[in-house]
Amino acid sequence: MVNNNAAAVLLALTALAAGKGVALSRGELVEIGGSFRLPDIMARSGAELVEVGTTNRTRPADYRAAAEGGKAQLLLKVHTSNYRVVGYTQEVSLSELVGLGRAYGMPVLYDLGAGLLLPPRLLGLPEGTPSVAESLRAGADLVCFSGDKLLGGPQAGILAGRTWAVEAVRKHPLFRALRPGKGTLAALDATLRLYQDPAEARRAIPVLSMLSAEPKELSARAEALAQTLRAACGPRCAVAVESGESEAGGGALPGVAFPTSLVTLAPRDRTPEALEAALRAAPVPVAALLRHGKVAVDVRTLRPSDDEALCRAVSEGL
Ligand SMILES: *Cc1c(COP(=O)(O)O)cnc(C)c1O
Repeated sequence: MVNNNAAAVLLALTALAAGKGVALSRGELVEIGGSFRLPDIMARSGAELVEVGTTNRTRPADYRAAAEGGKAQLLLKVHTSNYRVVGYTQEVSLSELVGLGRAYGMPVLYDLGAGLLLPPRLLGLPEGTPSVAESLRAGADLVCFSGDKLLGGPQAGILAGRTWAVEAVRKHPLFRALRPGKGTLAALDATLRLYQDPAEARRAIPVLSMLSAEPKELSARAEALAQTLRAACGPRCAVAVESGESEAGGGALPGVAFPTSLVTLAPRDRTPEALEAALRAAPVPVAALLRHGKVAVDVRTLRPSDDEALCRAVSEGL
């Protein structure tokens, strides 16, 4: 375990691939945000990037050519966590890549990004959302993922895989420089304990309970919140419940929308923009949406204990 997944990828490449060629699809040359750009991390690690395929289509033959030409000694796959390539596309799956790795005697490293630990259907996520267990079962030698994002714990980077690969990472001098502090270890430990019972994890870990909230439950909560807001605002604001979509964001599920219920606010004496700004500036700041000329709050992102602070912020912001 290290400080974040960017560190995990840097460490994995440094320990396993310094001085070697690493084959990576041009469709997976990602920038995650901040200054995490795969080609830069690769350069820092001392590995040499061997680009294969094209932006939209990469085939097994592209990796084969890199292996047979002696250019690549390691295969890397990166999950495209914050964008999707659609249209005329082809991708080499992790299992196919593992097959190629075995054929050429090359290790396979997978930067999974978000560390989904439960089967996607248990959380209502799209079938095929890659999980840690499935990636290890597919045969990756080393899988890197974040401790936050879909895992729901503290910011951290986790490396899991075959003993030889994890040992190589653990023994590398860079590991000591990237290892997290006690607070992070304790927080991840507490989060992982919740996973011993998947139902409990789904209930108690905020990101999982929000992602898996049922539309019926969300609409009931929206109606109740709208009632409370109407009582608090009176004629100063029209309050309604509308259906909408939540986006997971956070670099985990690009282009995936979840049906949700929104509470919308149309203030009488102020513009929606002014109310939205006032909510952000409230003592407990509220990040609301501006949608079709109204301020909208997605109840999926609220905990019941948030209602009181929200009502106060709205009432004072009108
Ligand atoms: C999010 C992400 C990272 C960076 O993870 P951090 O924990 O934020 O450093 C790296 N690779 C992929 C594919 C990601 O989705």
